[in-house]
Amino acid sequence: MRLREELARLIELQKMESAAGKIQAKKKDLPVRLKTLEDEFKSFSTVVETEREQLEGLRKRRREKDAQLLAGQEALKRTRERLFEVKTNKEYQSMLKEIEAFEAKNSRMEDEMISLLDELEHLENGLKTGEAELEARRLRYEEEKARLETELNAVAGELNVCVRKGGELKKEIPADLLRKYEQIKSAGRGVAVVAVWKEICDGCHMSIPPQLYNELQKSVLLTTCPNCNRIIYWENRNG
Ligand SMILES: [Zn+2]
Repeated sequence: MRLREELARLIELQKMESAAGKIQAKKKDLPVRLKTLEDEFKSFSTVVETEREQLEGLRKRRREKDAQLLAGQEALKRTRERLFEVKTNKEYQSMLKEIEAFEAKNSRMEDEMISLLDELEHLENGLKTGEAELEARRLRYEEEKARLETELNAVAGELNVCVRKGGELKKEIPADLLRKYEQIKSAGRGVAVVAVWKEICDGCHMSIPPQLYNELQKSVLLTTCPNCNRIIYWENRNG
């Protein structure tokens, strides 16, 4: 009877330690996922920020071009007015050339302005799309981040419970049995106690002899798997 209880505690201890192991893996993985999430969001923010800066630069160029165009038109207007004041034919011819040159220059500037406006429109539309996408991503990011942080907080609590329960169980297990448990555990890649169901060992997934399986169902003795040497117990999985 005594051994049956001790075995039950060993099984419980193994469950606590396995659970703690899983939680620890999660505890390590969650910050990595958080960081990945943050990096993805930041890199998209940077893309949109760059577009915003490009647009700012283009708007500045547009203002400059506007001023240049205005100055060009003013100069043309002034030259045309001066045309009526010239006295010699030579002066008149040279002034006409000057006007032609101004007109050509202004026309070039107008063409440049048209393509600049095209570019501006294209960039503005792109930025609008980018900003909407960024906002949607921000919402998703903040939601997911909050979820992962909640999970991370919960994990710390869960781990404490497992460690505390494991510690309590260890106190109730005789020292020699606990030593054996630790030995098997270190040889069995962290797992010392495993269930057997339908002759299959959960530790090594091999079948144990039918005779041993029958005994295991009734036994109150400490039994180990002939293949992996872990402590085995029968687990009724019929409901
Ligand atoms: Zn085994």
